Amino acid sequence: MLQPYKHEPFTDFTVEANRKAFEEALGLVEKELGKEYPLIINGERVTTEDKIQSWNPARKDQLVGSVSKANQDLAEKAIQSADEAFQTWRNVNPEERANILVKAAAIIRRRKHEFSAWLVHEAGKPWKEADADTAEAIDFLEYYARQMIELNRGKEILSRPGEQNRYFYTPMGVTVTISPWNFALAIMVGSAVAPIVTGNTVVLKPASTTPVVAAKFVEVLEDAGLPKGVINYVPGSGAEVGDYLVDHPKTSLITFTGSKDVGVRLYERAAVVRPGQNHLKRVIVEMGGKDTVVVDRDADLDLAAESILVSAFGFSGQKCSAGSRAVIHKDVYDEVLEKTVALAKNLTVGDPTNRDNYMGPVIDEKAFEKIMSYIEIGKKEGRLMTGGEGDSSTGFFIQPTIIADLDPEAVIMQEEIFGPVVAFSKANDFDHALEIANNTEYGLTGAVITRNRAHIEQAKREFHVGNLYFNRNCTGAIVGYHPFGGFKMSGTDSKAGGPDYLALHMQAKTVSEMY
Ligand code: NAP
Repeated sequence: MLQPYKHEPFTDFTVEANRKAFEEALGLVEKELGKEYPLIINGERVTTEDKIQSWNPARKDQLVGSVSKANQDLAEKAIQSADEAFQTWRNVNPEERANILVKAAAIIRRRKHEFSAWLVHEAGKPWKEADADTAEAIDFLEYYARQMIELNRGKEILSRPGEQNRYFYTPMGVTVTISPWNFALAIMVGSAVAPIVTGNTVVLKPASTTPVVAAKFVEVLEDAGLPKGVINYVPGSGAEVGDYLVDHPKTSLITFTGSKDVGVRLYERAAVVRPGQNHLKRVIVEMGGKDTVVVDRDADLDLAAESILVSAFGFSGQKCSAGSRAVIHKDVYDEVLEKTVALAKNLTVGDPTNRDNYMGPVIDEKAFEKIMSYIEIGKKEGRLMTGGEGDSSTGFFIQPTIIADLDPEAVIMQEEIFGPVVAFSKANDFDHALEIANNTEYGLTGAVITRNRAHIEQAKREFHVGNLYFNRNCTGAIVGYHPFGGFKMSGTDSKAGGPDYLALHMQAKTVSEMY
């Protein structure tokens, strides 16, 4: 019997031994930088001439790794391998499948700081954020293992005299997992192992900015005893390989996490029935956010400032759940703004290998340019209170930026920036604050800071987001505690890390037998 699920504790870096262990892991990973990683198709290593190079965003000249790059021929091989493996994997006892996840969790737990150190180097994550990413990966493995065992029992339905009925779940087939770089370990792990534990086989295309940590994870699955072909690792260009995999007639399920534009396009393509395809594809797409922290008149204003700060600037605002908007009641607006600006001015930005830096770089040059251009728009639309500067000479660093007095319809109040920028807007009253909070195309997360019970109840009904928090930040969902997924153009609301998630990877079957 497995112990009941509990989320993986975060590392306490105030303890010297923990700090030392993390520093050792950083040193160990530094020695491993610059290596080559092949594709893995049907358990075989495939090296290509064409490579994806993964660079450290904090040190532009530091090569994290050089990864073979799939083309369409190799993507085809990966699909065939997954299809073949599916014929046996689908029949493996679900408990056996679950045990492989538990074993993989144990391996990562033993090498926890090493995985986090890869995230520091490859994704530019500060220690605390990297540690949380690794903990979440472990959580997905542990949680989905238990969920599968539970799901395997099926659900109660009714039988009648002379007729016995059963209702159970059966896997779908070849799954294409396309993952983002911002939770380069956790989301990649969660969206790869959910199909696996439910009996599907996977072709994994990780983000091109963070393929090395994905390669490390596929090795862990092999060490944990996953049979060949059940996961196939094929980094490649989203446009070239991604489309091919999505369009393939043998693809049954697509699980994508990333931007709205790519997700919507993929959703449309997956709807087309291709020659030789005899099923409709199931699609899970989890996309962007433009998340709001609402501050009521009757609120703890220090808590409000702290919540805005953490929501906006954790991992430099590069979270789908980042609180990139603060909507504040007019009576407390000036005070909350002043407090938040004071806190932001104390934040440190720099190389995340140094624990003293609260914020690291943004992921790459393209992101740097995009965020800086939004800051320029914001300076025209509102009042720059702090930050606004970027430095890309050694890495892609941007100062935490607060822009105030924005119209609710301003560009930087509406579009996902995915960087350390928070836009402040003033609300006349609580109704108005909720109206502004709901005025984007997204509906992912939100937070309300208030002491007013009636307003809490009102927000529960009217604040239209998939994950709503009270009197805290709007980031940091924990597997099994805060099932995660958004409304509107934030996606299909699959609720990763929640009790309904695995069933989305399966087909329910009703079996009725007469006696
Ligand atoms: P992205 O540019 O959309 O990329 C996501 C993945 O899609 C990558 O693996 C990418 O590959 C691939 N891709 C790109 N073009 C493709 C195409 N034409 N066909 C198929 N695949 C394609 O997003 P990102 O910049 O990595 O991630 C940031 C976005 O993800 C933000 O919008 C954020 O809000 C969202 N996000 C959402 C959630 C959630 O749970 N809702 C969680 C995390 C992040 P390449 O890297 O090779 O281009």
